[in-house]
Amino acid sequence: MARFLFWTALLGLASYLSNSLFRIEGMVALQLTYALLLAILLLTPRRQWPAYLITAFPMLLVVRALAIGSTAELTSPFALVSTTTSILAATAGAAILARDRDWVEGRSDQLKAWTTAGFVTVVALPLFCATIFAAVRVPPAGYSSAEYWFNVYSNVALAYLVLTPPVLRARPKQWRDLYRSGKLPEAIALIAGFGVFAALIFTQESVLPLFLILPPLIIILFRVGFIGLSVAMALLVPIAVLLTGSGQGPFYAIDNLHVAAGSQGAADVHHALLLCRVFLVLTFIVVVMIAALLHEREQLQRMAQADRDIYEMVARQSGDMAFVCDLEGRIVFISPIAARVLGFAEGALDDFDWRDHIHPEDLGTIDAALQRVRDGEEDVDYLFRAFDAGGNELWFENRARLSTATAKDGPRYVVGSTRDVTARVLREQQLEKMATVDVLTGLPNRRQLNEQSRLKWRLAARHSDFLTLHVIDIDFFKAYNDVYGHAKGDKCLREVGAAIRKVLKRPDDFCARYGGEEFVVLLPGTDAGGALKVGEDICASVRDLNIRHDASEYGIVSVSVGCATVRPAFADDDGSLFEAADAALYQAKRQGRNRVVASNLRSLIIEANLVELNKRRV
Ligand code: GH3
Ligand code: MG
Ligand code: MG
Repeated sequence: MARFLFWTALLGLASYLSNSLFRIEGMVALQLTYALLLAILLLTPRRQWPAYLITAFPMLLVVRALAIGSTAELTSPFALVSTTTSILAATAGAAILARDRDWVEGRSDQLKAWTTAGFVTVVALPLFCATIFAAVRVPPAGYSSAEYWFNVYSNVALAYLVLTPPVLRARPKQWRDLYRSGKLPEAIALIAGFGVFAALIFTQESVLPLFLILPPLIIILFRVGFIGLSVAMALLVPIAVLLTGSGQGPFYAIDNLHVAAGSQGAADVHHALLLCRVFLVLTFIVVVMIAALLHEREQLQRMAQADRDIYEMVARQSGDMAFVCDLEGRIVFISPIAARVLGFAEGALDDFDWRDHIHPEDLGTIDAALQRVRDGEEDVDYLFRAFDAGGNELWFENRARLSTATAKDGPRYVVGSTRDVTARVLREQQLEKMATVDVLTGLPNRRQLNEQSRLKWRLAARHSDFLTLHVIDIDFFKAYNDVYGHAKGDKCLREVGAAIRKVLKRPDDFCARYGGEEFVVLLPGTDAGGALKVGEDICASVRDLNIRHDASEYGIVSVSVGCATVRPAFADDDGSLFEAADAALYQAKRQGRNRVVASNLRSLIIEANLVELNKRRV
């Protein structure tokens, strides 16, 4: 209700001002009323329109008669027809424009919306009003019908242009936004300055200053936005109309070029006012078009920024980065997020030599992959290590291909994606380790032993070299567990494992926990003499641990060792070497433990070669 009263009162005030202040030489020079009505309807829900329209009709008639100061005006045919026509026009305009809510609410100021608004307010409605007015009213003295028609036309068009934008765009919310962003003082200063400037221009008796009106309007648009522009326009129009109506300003200078000198009077004023309105309408159209274009550009920029934000977010979520490099592998572009992944400050990646940050062992991998890409292979995948800002090793997986955007002389860029796979690689390494390493002693487990014995057997066969295998078993270990408990037993196992490991000096020597309290040692290139020597050393190394073992006849923990040596004549390890060493271990136990026994090598070799011969016969 308060809203209704406020808008109705404002409408009455506009009508009063139009019919008194802006009534110049018998004609309204600026009809503010119906443009305000259009804006009010746009801001009001459609179901409330009848209330506004029914109130407006009698109220406007009364205010008009009051302003003119004649009760006869209440019932004059022109008053009735013009009021009805204007209300109808404003309502029709509002019905058309209300459909684009984004434009009405100021959420969008696209050129398309403004073109529609321009067509309705500058072409359709003024045409309608001017035609009906000209049909009903006899033109004032000194006017042709056409002149009168054009007068009404420009009046209505200008009024719509000057009032609709500020009422729609200079809403309280927009002022609040302006205030919060701290731009309000600047806006007020600029608009007030512009008002003074406009008053100066429209008191000059020269045409030239008119050209100066556009730049300040555009500055206001840039600095304050559409709200500032619409307020400045709303200020400019009454100043221009009132000053021109009072017989001052540049339009008389123009007029004097065309109108015969000496014909002063009402016709002159109206002619100048007509020119003034045409000038103002054209100025507004230009400025509003600039504003709309500016708005569209801003929106495009925001959309582009939103696109970038989305890509960056996706990249951040997946750990994926995009890169472009030239054919030599020099990075041309990489997603900015790469800096964060590598722990550098954003922007630190410009002037960055990637090769300095890649693991030296993986430079070859990258070069090879790049060569495959250059050869035209699609989707080349490769894995490499790089160092982050803190020197930590990270794993990356790249997928690359030649860019399809080709230059005249063929493709010039490689495009690809990079993914931080450190977590995955570490997990895989962990799993791999868990699968091949014995948790208790940290020595390789039986699985790795099987692999190694196959490998070492094949190598020995190829080089017809010796291969020695030791099987080591802790003496009286069941008793040790019984006496000292399993925890002590585990500790003892670890120490014995380390003691065995310590004996092995050559890089190819291999030691694994076979299971329980048994260990296996593989020594490539070691003959029977060496086998016995190492076996003795192992026994001594365990004795030197000096672990107390009261249930053993030796008083300390000791081991028995069985060893076997072979010079394989065939490629596949058939397990005979292990069997021979195990048999020797049994002998060592039988002979009193804490010693090493070598297997009967000769028979083993003969047997081994016999097996091979049989294989070949089959
Ligand atoms: P021998 O001198 O004839 O080798 O006698 P032994 O008692 O060592 O022989 P046996 O093979 O009968 O006993 C092996 C024992 O080793 C059985 C078990 O108590 C112990 N053992 C096997 N694996 C582990 C382990 O992982 N931890 C501990 N604490 N003890 C183990
Ligand atoms: Mg055993
Ligand atoms: Mg044992």
